Amino acid sequence: RRLITFRDVKKTYEDGTTAVQNFSLNIHKGEFFVLIGPSGCGKTTTLKMINRLHNVTNGDILIDGKSIKEHNIHELRWNIGYVLQQIALFPHMTIEENISIVPELKGWKKADIKKRVEELLGLVGLDPSIYRNRKPSELSGGQAQRVGVARALAADPPIILMDEPFSALDPLSREQLQQDFLKLKEKIQKTIVFVTHNMNEALTLGDRICLMKDGEMVQVGTPEEFLKHP
Ligand code: ADP
Ligand code: ADP
Repeated sequence: RRLITFRDVKKTYEDGTTAVQNFSLNIHKGEFFVLIGPSGCGKTTTLKMINRLHNVTNGDILIDGKSIKEHNIHELRWNIGYVLQQIALFPHMTIEENISIVPELKGWKKADIKKRVEELLGLVGLDPSIYRNRKPSELSGGQAQRVGVARALAADPPIILMDEPFSALDPLSREQLQQDFLKLKEKIQKTIVFVTHNMNEALTLGDRICLMKDGEMVQVGTPEEFLKHP
C-alpha cells in the first residue's frame, strides 16, 4: 500500500537553483526506501519536502492520499521522525529529556514516557540504567546517533526520515550501527526514507533504492535489480 506519493515534484530555490524535477514516485507502507546519488543531486531537498522543511514549487506530495499542504504542519512534523547526519541533541538536557520532547508535546502521561524511554534506549542498544541521566556531551558520536534514532522513534511516528545518519562516524562505528540498524528495521516496521551516497549502505539496508542525478530520478529498484543492472 502506498504511503508517500510524489506527483511530478519540482523544487526551485529562491536563487533559481532547480534542485529536484520530474520526480514521481510511490513509497509503500513499511518500506525502507533509499535515496542515493552524488553530492548535490537533490537527495536532501527531496527528503525535506516530505516534512515541509522545504516547500514544493510545482507538483505535490501526498501522505495517505492527502496533500501535505492539507496536513496540519505540527501534526505532520510530529508524525514524521527525523534523523540527521549530526544529531542536534539539547546539550543542557539529559538523554531521557531529549527523547521525551515529542511525547511530552503530545501530552503523554509521565509514567508512559518513562517506560517508552527505557524501551527505546534498549532498542538502540544503550543500557537505560547507564544512559538515561547522561548529558549529550558524555556520549560518543555513535551513541549520540543512537539517541537520535530513539528520539525520532519516541512518539511512534509512522514515517522516519534519515539524512546520512551514519556518515559522520568512524568506519567501525558506522559498520556496527549499520548492522544494528538492519535488525532494528525488522523490529520497528516503519516506513523509512533514507538518504546516503554510500551504495554499500543502500544495498545492505534498502528494500528499494532510487538513484538520483542532477535532481532527477535515474533508476528505481530493489538491491537485486541494482546488482544485475548497475
Ligand atoms: P544532496 O542532498 O544530494 O547533496 P541537495 O538537495 O542538498 O543535494 O542540493 C541539491 C541542489 O540544490 C544543489 O545544487 C544545492 O547546492 C542546491 N541547494 C540546496 N539547498 C539550497 C537552498 N536552500 N537554496 C539554494 N540552493 C540550494
Ligand atoms: P522554502 O522551501 O521554505 O520555500 P527555501 O527552501 O527556498 O524556502 O529556503 C530557505 C532559505 O534558506 C533560502 O532562502 C536560502 O537563502 C537559505 N539557504 C539554506 N541553505 C542554503 C544553501 N545551501 N544555499 C543557499 N541558500 C540556502
